[in-house]
Amino acid sequence: MTLMKTRSDAAKADVIVAGGGPAGLGAALMARRNGADVLLVEQFNFFGGMATAGLVGSFVATAGMGGGVSKELMDRASSLGGRKGVYFDLETFKYAAQCLLEEAGVRVLLHSFMESAVVENGVVKGIWVANKGGRLRLDAKVVIDATGDGDVAASAGAPYEKGRKEDGQMQAVTLRSRIGGVRVDQCADWKEINRLLADEIRQGGVHVPLYVAGVLDAGGESPKGERSFNLDMVAGVDATDPWELSRAELAARTAVWELVDFAKRRIPGWKDCYLIDTGVHIGVRETRRILGRYVLGRDDVMSGRKFEDGIARCSNWMDLHDPEVFQHKEGFERYIEKTQLPEGEWYEIPYRCLTPEKPGGILICGRCLSSDREANGSLRIMVTCINTGMAAGVGAALAAGRRTLPSEVDGAEVRRLLQAQGAEL
Ligand SMILES: Cc1cc2nc3c(=O)[nH]c(=O)nc-3n(C[C@H](O)[C@H](O)[C@H](O)COP(=O)(O)OP(=O)(O)OC[C@H]3O[C@@H](n4cnc5c(N)ncnc54)[C@H](O)[C@@H]3O)c2cc1C
Repeated sequence: MTLMKTRSDAAKADVIVAGGGPAGLGAALMARRNGADVLLVEQFNFFGGMATAGLVGSFVATAGMGGGVSKELMDRASSLGGRKGVYFDLETFKYAAQCLLEEAGVRVLLHSFMESAVVENGVVKGIWVANKGGRLRLDAKVVIDATGDGDVAASAGAPYEKGRKEDGQMQAVTLRSRIGGVRVDQCADWKEINRLLADEIRQGGVHVPLYVAGVLDAGGESPKGERSFNLDMVAGVDATDPWELSRAELAARTAVWELVDFAKRRIPGWKDCYLIDTGVHIGVRETRRILGRYVLGRDDVMSGRKFEDGIARCSNWMDLHDPEVFQHKEGFERYIEKTQLPEGEWYEIPYRCLTPEKPGGILICGRCLSSDREANGSLRIMVTCINTGMAAGVGAALAAGRRTLPSEVDGAEVRRLLQAQGAEL
């Protein structure tokens, strides 16, 4: 039983986790279970990040999913009746995450946007949030940045990279939707749908980049039989620029309506389909990569490299939504094969990727962790984000308990603790 905090106490914690997506869930749960008083800060009124707010709702299968928080989420969703294989019912995901957090005794502050970091003498001491109460300062011994975009680290002055070296381009964004009323038994196959879509784009009926035609897939089959168009909708967007993000949200929503209209008119089996909803946040694949004490690179991924301080496994291919990848000269399938490790192999992510070069007092996990662009394309899947979050949580609890910096915690010790606590490592 967690004792209620008084109001002034409530604004302090051993560990603050900014962001309640996959990485933040792993981080908050493991920091709490390793003895820290934890406050999880989230801008929405639920947890799950892209899984729920972005309507993604399915785990890409990878090495490392055999244990830890991702398995707990899957098991809990099953017992709540909202899981089919790697696909989740979205409300079930939200509630499963909430149950795990409540049971662990993680304190939560919702409807609160992390605005900036509090940095004193080169060490992060807390964050400023903006919410209904105005601006509120929250103090912590350690802050974990699980915002996906590295918002805390960037505002604290941590060095980072964004986009391709040659032109700064980032991967295209996608507004996910849920579409009901599809007659699955009468459905055209995806090859045929892609052919129709290419034709429609050429005629100007749907305004999305032409390169997506040919790679459109079912975008997931929810336990309730809903469908989604999982295709690149707006290219050339920097989702950390609020003006560009606003433009992208509006353009993508128009594209979703056009797609539904096209589907009704032209795709067999979709005649009576209807739009249920769109994500409360557009799907963002790439923004800041915070530079840490180690930068995981393409070669580490492709050689299946292991580390003494390896804290998470991953076996996903280098999934980059760039036109050049979809139009790869040897074909898209061949590109996937070429960037995929052999069956049963994996690479590891070292603990050093979770601590920025500077400042101290902060850990980064999930999509924004220290990696080059190609490695990031591989590790950004949800299970791996959860697993890196788990490691950040353990590292933060150790650092807070010992009154030391997270960068001074031995990554090999974090690895051992994760192994002892059920992570597949
Ligand atoms: C279209 C699309 C399809 C995908 N498909 C799959 C798939 O099928 N399977 C898979 O495994 N992965 C998939 N991915 C990748 C995966 O969903 C993400 O990379 C992953 O969710 C990243 O996890 P994260 O915790 O780092 O960040 P996020 O999921 O983005 O979570 C960040 C959390 O922090 C909160 N937040 C952000 N900034 C602030 C702030 N300043 N203050 C307060 N709160 C904040 C957000 O609201 C959110 O809850 C997909 C991604 C996209 C975009």
